[in-house]
Amino acid sequence: MSRIHCPRCHRPQSHCLCPLIPSLDSRTRVLLLQHPSEVNHALNTARLAALGLNNAELIVGEVFKHLPALLNRPGYQACLLFPGEDAQPMQAYGPSDDPLLLVVPDGTWRKARKLLHLNPSLAALPRVTLADGRVSRYRLRKAPGPGALSTVEAVVQALQILEAPASFEALLRPFEALIEGQIAAMGAETYQRNHAGK
Ligand SMILES: [Zn+2]
Repeated sequence: MSRIHCPRCHRPQSHCLCPLIPSLDSRTRVLLLQHPSEVNHALNTARLAALGLNNAELIVGEVFKHLPALLNRPGYQACLLFPGEDAQPMQAYGPSDDPLLLVVPDGTWRKARKLLHLNPSLAALPRVTLADGRVSRYRLRKAPGPGALSTVEAVVQALQILEAPASFEALLRPFEALIEGQIAAMGAETYQRNHAGK
């Protein structure tokens, strides 16, 4: 018996997260680039971020042919949320700043680095980072993405910094429900054994 999945959030219909997904406006445009190996991952949080933000887009691939055009969006300054020697910590927008086109690679470290390697226009972007020491509230994944945060958490934290005092916490609601479902599914005991105290 194959389970029917929601066409929008890709969760099993019985666990559809759509009622929890907000519809938030942001000055910042968020471009999520997802490695194909992440698409069917149960914790596809990039998709949750893309669905919950009106000014966001999710593209799946390894080599993004149209990337230069996507990055040249008038009125925005493109930058990559990824560590690097010259990466600048993000700051709130000043009154005359163009908003960012924030490019967020989604996937494990290894996959994200591969995306940079395969897409020189991505690797050439100026880089921004979140402040150090931000740790995920959730430890379900062994190899979390940039900054040890899930992708949706990284996006929320970036937007909170850039667009303070606006709040984007509502984006985490479907994610929290997803995590609770995952913990219930794997059993509290397994969760403790694998993830507690790491
Ligand atoms: Zn759904």
